[in-house]
Order: sequence, then structure tokens, then C-alpha cells
Amino acid sequence: QANERESMYLVSEYAQTYFSESLWERESGKAIGLTYFKERGFTDETIKKFGLGYCLDNWDSFTNTALDKGYQLEFLEKTGLTIVKEQAGGESRKFDRFKGRVMFPIHSMSGRVLGFGGRILTNDKKAAKYLNSPESEIYHKSKVLYGIYFAKQSIAKEDNCYLVEGYTDVIQLYQSGVKNVVSSSGTALTPEQIRLVNRLTKNITVLFDGDAAGLRASLRGIDLILEQGMNVKVCTFPEGEDPDSFAKNNSYEDLVLYLEENAKDFIQFKTSLLAEEAANDPIKRADTVRDIVNSISKIPDRIKKEIYIQECAKIMHISEEVLYNTLAQIDKKGA
Ligand code: ATP
Ligand code: MN
Ligand code: MN
Ligand code: MN
Repeated sequence: QANERESMYLVSEYAQTYFSESLWERESGKAIGLTYFKERGFTDETIKKFGLGYCLDNWDSFTNTALDKGYQLEFLEKTGLTIVKEQAGGESRKFDRFKGRVMFPIHSMSGRVLGFGGRILTNDKKAAKYLNSPESEIYHKSKVLYGIYFAKQSIAKEDNCYLVEGYTDVIQLYQSGVKNVVSSSGTALTPEQIRLVNRLTKNITVLFDGDAAGLRASLRGIDLILEQGMNVKVCTFPEGEDPDSFAKNNSYEDLVLYLEENAKDFIQFKTSLLAEEAANDPIKRADTVRDIVNSISKIPDRIKKEIYIQECAKIMHISEEVLYNTLAQIDKKGA
């Protein structure tokens, strides 16, 4: 329903303003939230540009203020900004979902606030580090890319898009001057997200945190990029670093140089990585070959396919003929 969605947009917009004001004007917001962002190296300009904020560490300040301003509980609840809990005796209590967290508004391609990511500031290992808005009429996490609104012009201009893991990676790279950057924010990449980028460029460079945790799992998602006929490069960061920390600790020139020198073609990267792992294990090698040929099979362009088959044959020490046969088998199964 159009009216309902519009009401949800309005309350989200208001929340963004309220969280920003809390960050810049309230004593605890300044002491806790603003200090946190500054320690991360974000400038005032960056904090304002991305609309960052703070949700006060009370139970319900945001919710009560919004209700006083005339925003309806229905939409506060539907956007997930407010959690309503039924109590014994028919009473209910309202809580701010993001209480005590620094806030990252998530914008649509056209700049509307769809939802939020909120980061915890304590070291409480039991609580989730990041909390996101729940799925709603206006926020579908599989269809948004964090940062796309700020990055879109630069993605088109540079004819390339950097894809990073987290919110702070987007913000830090942007501040450093690498503005063509977006994030899927911890979720597995989806075809819809890739389509958003595909409208702007055919080239994606995926930047992986240097923790290797997400790397293997992410390789699958990257096949989806190939399927859309896009060119994919990947770049990893040194152990313990992510794009955020690297950009914070290095100059713009060193950052750009690092990206240029370390971005590898995805198929080559995947082949070398898996080949190394399977080096002395014939059965694993066979699985690896199938896995790589499976990635190659996703590429719509036949000439590119052929070039990759040749590359793979070289790296894996396997004849092209065997690889073409494997490709034919996979194509037959897929059809
Ligand atoms: P920071 O630098 O603030 O610690 P990060 O962005 O480096 O955060 P990672 O642990 O690398 O965090 O995770 C990448 C992304 O995955 C995060 O930006 C966030 O969007 C998402 N994420 C991480 N932890 C969680 C969690 N516990 N629940 C939901 N999403 C999460
Ligand atoms: Mn990570
Ligand atoms: Mn990270
Ligand atoms: Mn980080």
C-alpha cells in the first residue's frame, strides 16, 4: 500500500534526523557516539554526509519523542524502530530497538532512508555487534546496497565498483577519496544487489577482509556476478586488516596503489587459491576442477569462456580437452 509505505519512509526520515541530532547536540551523544566516530577517523563532513547518528541509551527516548511529534506507533513498529512487548495484565511496553548504538542510515538509490544498521559500543560478546532494521515494506535487505546513493555517480564515472564487507569500509574508503564503493553489509550477495550495480558499470572489484572467514563462503556469491555478464576482480587485505583499517592507516596514494597491485581476476584468483589447497590431494583436485569450471560456465560470453578454460588448464596442469568436456557436462545438467 502506497500510503503505508510513505508513512514508513517519513518515520524513517524522522528517525535519521533524531539520531543525528542526538549525536551532535546531546551530551551523551557527543561524549559517546561522536567520540566513537572521531576515534574511527571520520571527519565532521563525513559523519554528516552519511547521516550517522546515535540512539540514546535510554529505553524509549526516540519512540516517545516520535509519538509526541505525531508519528504513529503502527509505523514505528512496522519499520522496526520501536519494539512493542506485551506485559502481564494486558499492558505493553515500548522499546527503542537501537538503544545505545551508533547509527548508520541505509539509503535507497534515490536517497530515501530505508532502514538502519546500529553498532554496539561495548565489548559485550553476547550482543550482536551490528543490528539491522528488520525486513519491512520499505526495507528488503536483499535488494539494497549500503552506500549506493553516495557512490552511484562515481561508479559510472570510474566504470568500476568496489564491493566491501561492512558499513565502515564504505565510509572510510569514501572519505579517503575512493568513492565508488558499496557494501552488502554482512549478507550474502544477491542477484538484485548485483543488478543495481550492473546498471552503472560492468566491472566489480570485491575487497575481502584479511580474516579469511568470509572468503570461501563468498566465492559462491561471486558466481552470481559472472552470471550477469560482469567482470569480477578480487583483492584481499593483509591479515587483521580490512578496507576500513587499511584506508585509515595509509595515504590515498598508497591505498590506490594497493588496490591496483592486488586486484586479481576472479577466476585466476579462485583457481590459484583452490589449486593450492588441493595440491597433494587428487580427489580434492578433481572437485576443484569441477568447481572452477562451474564458475566458468556462468560466463555468458563464449570467447571469455574459452580464454578462462585455457588459463585454468595452465594453472591446474589439466588438458583443455578435459576441461571442455567438464564444461559440456555442466551445461547439459544446467539445461
Ligand atoms: P567494525 O569495523 O565496526 O568492527 P566491520 O564492518 O569490520 O565492523 P565485520 O565483522 O567485518 O565488521 O562484518 C562485516 C559486516 O557484516 C558489518 O559491517 C555488518 O554489516 C555485518 N555484521 C557483522 N557482524 C554482524 C552481526 N553480529 N549481526 C549482523 N550483521 C553483522
Ligand atoms: Mn569480516
Ligand atoms: Mn571488517
Ligand atoms: Mn572493520
